[in-house]
Amino acid sequence: MAAAEDRPPVPISMPDIGGMADDISDKLPDAKSLPGIGDLISGSDANEGADSAASANAASAASAASAADSPGPLSRTTQTGTDAGEALRSRILQQADAQQGAAEQEAREAAEQAAIQQAAKEAATQQKSAEKAAAAKEAAELEAKRKAEEAARQKAEAERLAKLAKSFIAPVSSYTLTASFGQAGDRWAADHTGQDFAAPTGTPVKAVHSGTITQAGWAGSYGYRIVLTLDDGTELWFCHLSSMVKTSGKVDTGDVIGRVGATGNVTGPHLHLEVRPGAGDPIDPMPWLRDHGVNV
Ligand SMILES: [Zn+2]
Repeated sequence: MAAAEDRPPVPISMPDIGGMADDISDKLPDAKSLPGIGDLISGSDANEGADSAASANAASAASAASAADSPGPLSRTTQTGTDAGEALRSRILQQADAQQGAAEQEAREAAEQAAIQQAAKEAATQQKSAEKAAAAKEAAELEAKRKAEEAARQKAEAERLAKLAKSFIAPVSSYTLTASFGQAGDRWAADHTGQDFAAPTGTPVKAVHSGTITQAGWAGSYGYRIVLTLDDGTELWFCHLSSMVKTSGKVDTGDVIGRVGATGNVTGPHLHLEVRPGAGDPIDPMPWLRDHGVNV
């Protein structure tokens, strides 16, 4: 023992670990090239103290073996340690199982959650599509309704104009438009107060609309003039007439009330028509006629 303690505590050439040393040196080839180290591990030069070291080791091993063989506290300790180890192992396995179970549960829950979210997403998409379709349908219905209303409005307007065209007519059937409303001229004190329809003398002059003849006679520069008052109070003046067919009473649309002439302040035969709403100042007869469905 003393000899072994005097030497460096390197387990050289011990039969039971010599192989291990060789294995280590195989795995550490560089160790052999280190001066002295390789010899220390496996060299025969170091065998001088090997026998004493080996015998010391053997003695120690024998002592341990006898201790193991004899029943005592060590044995009980070992047995208890084995039970505890088994219990620990069992606990570890249980814990591992529990952890695995928890992980699997977690994975299942995650998958379920993902499935629920996917379903919700798809439902939302379908809902969106349905809403879009409904909105498109509503828009189409509104558009169709709008078009139908527009068509109805146009039809009503056309009917109104057709009716007006029947109830309002041009004062002469054939004519040439000459001096217009507001036109300046040396024959008038002010701007022209009516619309001139040039036509041959004797051309029939008709009631533009139903009403009452409230005046008929000579009127200075207007020549022979008939005043037709409509039910709404509008006065229509028919001037420069060569003759007056109706001089009083009710007339209907289209009734011949006089004939075209050149009486009064004129240079040629024509009908001078004035429109005076509410028996007041004259307005342009052309837009008024058109507003009442007359194509002039
Ligand atoms: Zn005139």
